[in-house]
Amino acid sequence: MPSSAAIHDVVIIGAGPAGLGVASTLRRLGVAATVVDRHGVGASFLRWPPDMRLITPSFTGNQFGLVDLNAITPDTSPALSLTEEHPTGAQYAAYLDMVARLDEIEVRTGIEVTDVVPRDDGHLTVEVADGGDLIARNVVWAAGEAQYPRHTGFPGAGHGIPTVNITSWGEHPGDDAVIIGGYESGIDAAANLIARGKRVTVIDPDAPWDVIDADPSRILSPYTQGRLRAADDTDRLELIGGVSVDTVTAAGDGWFVTTSDGEAHPTDGPPLLAIGFEGSLSIIRDRFKFDEHGRVELFEENDGSTVVPGLYLAGPALAHREAIFCFIYKFRQRFAIVARDIGERLEVDTEPLGELREHRFFLDDLSCCNDDCLC
Ligand SMILES: Cc1cc2nc3c(=O)[nH]c(=O)nc-3n(C[C@H](O)[C@H](O)[C@H](O)COP(=O)(O)OP(=O)(O)OC[C@H]3O[C@@H](n4cnc5c(N)ncnc54)[C@H](O)[C@@H]3O)c2cc1C
Repeated sequence: MPSSAAIHDVVIIGAGPAGLGVASTLRRLGVAATVVDRHGVGASFLRWPPDMRLITPSFTGNQFGLVDLNAITPDTSPALSLTEEHPTGAQYAAYLDMVARLDEIEVRTGIEVTDVVPRDDGHLTVEVADGGDLIARNVVWAAGEAQYPRHTGFPGAGHGIPTVNITSWGEHPGDDAVIIGGYESGIDAAANLIARGKRVTVIDPDAPWDVIDADPSRILSPYTQGRLRAADDTDRLELIGGVSVDTVTAAGDGWFVTTSDGEAHPTDGPPLLAIGFEGSLSIIRDRFKFDEHGRVELFEENDGSTVVPGLYLAGPALAHREAIFCFIYKFRQRFAIVARDIGERLEVDTEPLGELREHRFFLDDLSCCNDDCLC
């Protein structure tokens, strides 16, 4: 890297809702961030099969103080722009693109980041796969989870296909399917396959379809529950809770999924994995600390890394105390927290962020983030 290379005030990795949301928030401070993405704006959403939709409903409540749950800025509404309550991935990507254009956010595409390395001068080097590293005073990691699904955890897991890698349900082979994991992605897969006439078995030790909890992050959404009821009415759906998957083995033209009770479940289509994500943090694990549950540890006052000064996290991997921020309407509440800290480091006036409080786009008091109060 030549010593004359430009030093960016802020580089954001990922042009999804988290990265663009932070970039838009920084705009309010007059700070222009450079957003880089290995694909392009909304890339994770553009990979969705055409019939996959956001489970969180969009609604034009902005004027009444109830900002659309899927909006990444308080003055936009996917419902208004897309006229859809449950946008498809392509529609939501179009909304993100609109926000990037409206706020004139610089997005550089085709840049795959491999590491963020602290430098002796206090800045950070954003290392890029094909060269052309960037130097920045502040870096926001917003590369998400969707493109890094989990496909390990039991012998034979490698036979399975992560549901997030399916681009067309119509092309999934076989008359029947076994889905490992029964939370949102697993039930979404089940509903889509049932709609195509298949027999489907869903296995999850936690039986999420039976869970009742006030935190929507811990239960199936009403949208999914409705689809689950419709799928169940076909009598082609079997939900198996209370047991975990021990192994997956290939057998002739199909596979056996063996559960902890000794049952072997045959399937002629490759098993589907809906068992969560390694997440993009797996790329830069050394740049953050993790607790014994694998949750990332961050400074509560700014969502910064406790290992690398000037490096921040935005998006669904955020967690503090009992609160998990795994939906857009949750993690957007922390955009201003990151923007405020970066603004202070860059010595700009952070007052303009204050107005975000009234829209609940500025959650800095986490003292109630425990079992009794949901963030
Ligand atoms: C079926 C399904 C339904 C969902 N429904 C909802 C819903 O209704 N409501 C909701 O709130 N959430 C929903 N989610 C979750 C939601 O999609 C995520 O929370 C959201 O996408 C996270 O945003 P993000 O910006 O952190 O990550 P992403 O949207 O994944 O964006 C990350 C960006 O980073 C880029 N990137 C990744 N790695 C690199 C790298 N190394 N270098 C450079 N760029 C990189 C990617 O190309 C991508 O564009 C759903 C997810 C799925 C799978």
